[in-house]
Amino acid sequence: MEFNLSDHPHRRYNPLTGEWLLVSPHRTKRPWQGKVDDAPPEDLPVYDPGCYLCPGNRRASGDVNPQYETTFAFTNDFPALLLDTPDGSYTPHPLVRAEAEHGTARVLCFSPRHDLTLARMTIDEIMPVIALWQDETRSLGARGDIGYVQIFENRGAMMGASNPHPHGQIWATRRLPREVEKEDASQRAYWKTHGVDLLGDYLKYECETGERVVYANDHFAVLVPFWALWPFETLVVSRAHVGSLLDLSDAAARSLAEALHHITVCYDNLFRTSFPYSMGFHQTPTDGGEYPHWRLHIHFYPPLLRSATVQKFMVGYEMLGTPQRDITAEQAAARLRDLREVHYRARV
Ligand SMILES: [Zn+2]
Ligand SMILES: [Zn+2]
Repeated sequence: MEFNLSDHPHRRYNPLTGEWLLVSPHRTKRPWQGKVDDAPPEDLPVYDPGCYLCPGNRRASGDVNPQYETTFAFTNDFPALLLDTPDGSYTPHPLVRAEAEHGTARVLCFSPRHDLTLARMTIDEIMPVIALWQDETRSLGARGDIGYVQIFENRGAMMGASNPHPHGQIWATRRLPREVEKEDASQRAYWKTHGVDLLGDYLKYECETGERVVYANDHFAVLVPFWALWPFETLVVSRAHVGSLLDLSDAAARSLAEALHHITVCYDNLFRTSFPYSMGFHQTPTDGGEYPHWRLHIHFYPPLLRSATVQKFMVGYEMLGTPQRDITAEQAAARLRDLREVHYRARV
């Protein structure tokens, strides 16, 4: 018997984080006796008078949202980070360390319509969202006290999103967040050794084999990375060697809107549900350092495993040993690729 990736348990290496994961493809044949929830209701009103993100509504802070027509951004009324945090540290013992962290948290409404998602928005409606991500990156990144601008979206109650109104967040900090720090170290080391960027080399390989590529246009490719951990995790990678949203041409920004639209529609179609996920941009830090080794990319981490209600949990061995998946990255890519880009939910 010869080892192969589709039948035998194996480890896969994530070169971005330097971590391994366990893949158990033989288990996809076992019967499922786990938890099945009802699908969440999907019929939302265009405007919800009780929503703190809809235009014209009052938020908990007392501020009233403007009658915005495309996008709207504001500093989170309950931010996880504060710009006026004083510098300081606490180290009573070498093993007991704390440092002040300094930053801000922003909320970004993608649309005035309460009932839309990136999958249900048109390319023309997504373009102002990309412009907003660029504006926020520019203004926050220009601050001397902000070293990293982390753009992300938590979509769906399953991911803990408290409000279905289409919106994302930015947490911006002085220091690099943990995942970014790991990816920075890996990309820097690869650049130093090979003289080319890690994700550029990887993308070239994936485009040659095509096995894990879900979608590609002139400027971006969407693929299930070889080392994907979440069942239908994807990576959206810039085909040009650019590090930041601020480096995108107008044509590349439009290609990005098309790529985001494509993958979110495929996700919704997969289990015929408004697909939950956490997604976020990884771009060059804004701390004034040199980052020629970075390449702009976006991670999608969706929790769903086999239906609209059955999700993957990171528990047991995954908390104590190594994260694990059953369905392989190649199987996931094939399923996503087969979904036609016609949204199952008609836009009203
Ligand atoms: Zn709303
Ligand atoms: Zn990344």
